[in-house]
Amino acid sequence: MSETRYERFFSPEDARRDPYPTVPFTVPPGTRGVTVRQTFTPQSATVDLGYADPVGMRGWSGGARRSYTVTTSDATPGYTPGVFRPGEHHVLLGLYHVPPEGVTVIVSIELHPELDLRWRRGDLHAHTHHSDAQGSLTQLAAAGRDRGLDFVSVADHNTVSHHPHLDGAFLLPAQEVTTYHGHFVAHGPGPQLEFRLTEAAGVQEVLEDAARARLLTVLAHPVPTCPSCDWAWGLEEQFDALEVWNGPWPVLNWIAREKWLGLLDRGLRLPAVGGSDRHQPDAWPDISEPFLQVGSPTTWVKVAGPHRNDLYAGILAGRTCVSESPQGPLIDLSLEGDELYYDVSGEPGGTLMLYAGRELIQEAEFDGPLKGHLPATQPDAAYYRAEVVAPLPAEQAQRVQARWPQHVRPQDVTTRVRALSSAVWR
Ligand SMILES: [Zn+2]
Repeated sequence: MSETRYERFFSPEDARRDPYPTVPFTVPPGTRGVTVRQTFTPQSATVDLGYADPVGMRGWSGGARRSYTVTTSDATPGYTPGVFRPGEHHVLLGLYHVPPEGVTVIVSIELHPELDLRWRRGDLHAHTHHSDAQGSLTQLAAAGRDRGLDFVSVADHNTVSHHPHLDGAFLLPAQEVTTYHGHFVAHGPGPQLEFRLTEAAGVQEVLEDAARARLLTVLAHPVPTCPSCDWAWGLEEQFDALEVWNGPWPVLNWIAREKWLGLLDRGLRLPAVGGSDRHQPDAWPDISEPFLQVGSPTTWVKVAGPHRNDLYAGILAGRTCVSESPQGPLIDLSLEGDELYYDVSGEPGGTLMLYAGRELIQEAEFDGPLKGHLPATQPDAAYYRAEVVAPLPAEQAQRVQARWPQHVRPQDVTTRVRALSSAVWR
């Protein structure tokens, strides 16, 4: 843990001019908590204490405390836990009483790094009878547990009526803002966002509302599977992540991947996530084909703790992989210096493809755990990524072509993706 100490002197005149000074400090990526300690002399002064992150107020303890700790999952009473977005944060001071000789305030700030990262698997996009599915929250939770998932985000359309009924550990609060020209999922507890949007300026405002409410926003299924499904509002740079894979891969998901890659090529660092978009049926057990159930696809997130905010922090950091099912494959991809490391586990089958930007730089059969590294020295590659692919059976290819003839070229349906990693940057 790193600790930084700041010393400030305030005269009575300073306190009259600005009674609420702040001490700015930088929170780097990979931060899971902050501890702030305050002392001041002389003791006859009263200096209040608080905390704000780049979004706004995170807590205030006035003169009641001389220290506080805020982490992703917990906080000293008076403070709000949550994701630490990198950037400029502030220790807030309140110069309630400054004696004639002035006051010297010492603030020390300790940053807690994210440690012991481990993979958790879940589904970031499912529906219940709180919107247009038949099944209940109980049925969705049972189905998700049956598949071995660690979490399921309930993203009912244009409502948060389900939020008070979630357990907060397995079923996580979300809402799918469903407009007539595209959808996005906002993760986190309420408030309900406006969805009756008819112009891009309104969408922009709602995205700002979501950011202020500290929701994590994911642009959903930018594919023309239904007349209102594709995203027509632009503003992609405002999102925290992109749903690159929604439901079964052959359902036009290569169009979402192409859109994602186009955004990466523009320099946007959008993490990739997936979601089954399962509309849970009112039946138990769920006897549908596994590829239609919750958890197909599964999103893997490398996290520093079990709280949902750890999950959101992992997504924001781009530590994600999407796989066809909870059995994987899981691709763990990282860059260390000029070396690209890969570690692929889970149900074997297919071929691992490693890319430098758009260029394929290595292929390897995935017939069992696969681990290795290779030089990442392509001068033009802004990012690296990986996929596991397998042939798509001809009858599936024909079905997709017959359903969406205008959107399917023959080369789109020769293979299916079994897993894809987020991009990693130098
Ligand atoms: Zn949708």
